[in-house]
Amino acid sequence: MVTARELVLSRRPQGRIEPGCFTLVERKLPALSQGQLLVRADCFSVDPSMIPRLSVDTYAAAFDLGAAVEARAVGRVVQSRADGWSEGDWALCWGGWRDYAVVDASEGIRIQPRSGLPPHTWLHVLGVPGLTAYIGLVDVARMQPGDRVWVSAAAGAVGSVAAQLAKARGASLVIGSAGGAEKARYLTGTLGLDAAVDYRAGHLAEQLRGAAPEGIDIYFDNVGGGHLEAAIDLLRTGGRAAICGMISGYGKPPGPGPGNLTQLIIKRLRLEGFLVLDHLHRRAAFEEAVLPLVEDGTLHTDVTMFDDLQSAPQALLSLLDGAKLGKALVRP
Ligand code: NDP
Repeated sequence: MVTARELVLSRRPQGRIEPGCFTLVERKLPALSQGQLLVRADCFSVDPSMIPRLSVDTYAAAFDLGAAVEARAVGRVVQSRADGWSEGDWALCWGGWRDYAVVDASEGIRIQPRSGLPPHTWLHVLGVPGLTAYIGLVDVARMQPGDRVWVSAAAGAVGSVAAQLAKARGASLVIGSAGGAEKARYLTGTLGLDAAVDYRAGHLAEQLRGAAPEGIDIYFDNVGGGHLEAAIDLLRTGGRAAICGMISGYGKPPGPGPGNLTQLIIKRLRLEGFLVLDHLHRRAAFEEAVLPLVEDGTLHTDVTMFDDLQSAPQALLSLLDGAKLGKALVRP
């Protein structure tokens, strides 16, 4: 019998997320039933969508109090009672914030790590963040070669993929925004974007106007708030915005919306929200377009790995305070 360590949500945050909202518990796992796997997590994901779900229902229900926080994980099968699965296989599954998990094989996806691609690639560029970037850019914003594109939170998981994909698909200008001078240098240096804007330095609209004096055709929104308002001003006639996320408002009471919405009419803009979960059938097209760029190293996919299960709250907070680069993951 295996004893799992897990972090459960023991109280809902009142305002800021605090480590004291979570409690470490040890739980003896039940023997496997037919069709189940015991998986030892290599690492699990922390995602912005978890932040509101600590407190309220969103497009998914709020996390249960007293239960391990739900999260995607990649790990190795250490025991199998499921046809077609063997000890040592790599699985992508809903492992949660724990080291060992019993999962139904029907809900796990076998991953076959390719040479040079670590398993956590399936939590990043070949997982939800990568698919989200592809859907937002290709299906929602309908980016065309020659378009001028701005991607916010461009040093993060979704944003870094979206910005690099825009370059790879022939955008004439790709601007990335991120917090801090170091991340701005990362955007133009490592990721090879045309321009970077440090939103923490202030004067966001002026910085953007300097980077794109003729405006933009596409805005990939990961941030909302003042970023979205600046984008509406910067978009050219016929411009499109893929509304992917609004992290600047997560965990906060609703604030005032953009004050410049009449621009939508004047410039015939299209702003469209989307959820990647509605687009899972696009997986094959996504892999066909993105996998070669991952395998030949065109796409940089940096990861910040937080070691130890108990660092999960800190990893989650890093999505708000920016104390990470690329995709934030936890190795329990
Ligand atoms: P990231 O790896 O991008 O981490 C979040 C980043 O948000 C931080 O690194 C930080 O960037 C930035 N950020 C946080 N607060 C602010 C703020 N107040 N102003 C500006 N930037 C801020 O996370 P993901 O890539 O996983 O997710 C990015 C967005 O995509 C989120 O909004 C998320 O909800 C959304 N999403 C939507 C999906 C969908 O189906 N629609 C699916 C997956 C994600 P910095 O370090 O530069 O400060």
